[in-house]
Amino acid sequence: MENDILLHLKEIQNRINKACEKAGRKAEEVQLLLATKTVSSERIKIALAAGYRLIAENKIQELKEKFEDLQSSTHTSHFIGHLQTNKIKEILKYQVSCVQSVDRLDLAEKLQKKLESENKTMDILIQVNTSNEASKFGVAPENTLALVQEIAKLDRVRIQGLMTIGLFSDDESKVRPCFQLLKKIQQDIVQANIPHVNMRELSMGMSGDLEIAIEEGATIIRVGTAIFGKRIYPDSYHWNENIV
Ligand SMILES: *Cc1c(COP(=O)(O)O)cnc(C)c1O
Repeated sequence: MENDILLHLKEIQNRINKACEKAGRKAEEVQLLLATKTVSSERIKIALAAGYRLIAENKIQELKEKFEDLQSSTHTSHFIGHLQTNKIKEILKYQVSCVQSVDRLDLAEKLQKKLESENKTMDILIQVNTSNEASKFGVAPENTLALVQEIAKLDRVRIQGLMTIGLFSDDESKVRPCFQLLKKIQQDIVQANIPHVNMRELSMGMSGDLEIAIEEGATIIRVGTAIFGKRIYPDSYHWNENIV
């Protein structure tokens, strides 16, 4: 079991290195985020011990369940699932340092309020729905700039870039445009020169499409299956806000 994870991590690192080489990028420019939904703390710790430090959950319940167990292993925790506003206090309590899935103003405003009351700040990414179907979450591409302009006025939430889930398809010619679109939106936002907005991070690419994402400029790739193995539930389960 331990060997599996270590072997898979090596394979992923090789894929990252190759994709970076092909794209003329440095491997250090791409951070590997471990997508740990349904993975036990024990297995997560194996990957952390191998030197990977960035992990992310989709659901507050799992974040909570693994929190104690993971305290002894150095790591940074992001959140990549659909976030309901009534769960914001848990995001702070369980020390999430970046919510990658902010896709609406009211969520950012409620985060702001909670952060203010605790005298904290938090990094966020704006999730964009670049595929128009695979996930119903994420702001529409054409509304992203306006959303960023509004959220930028909130001084406790710090925009660090954009996140997307590419189209689920084996057809590369349908996946790549999603990542190109995210890159294009990033550049438009940079052009707009909005105070307090950083566009450093592009979180895109998963087990099946990380090479394409890296070629198109990903700085964070989020990988689960290719490291920890297949999940028993379909992904729609993890992305459905109605199942808690
Ligand atoms: C599960 C998940 C991933 C990782 O997907 P894999 O195909 O298992 O690599 C990435 N991003 C998000 C938002 C996820 O929910």
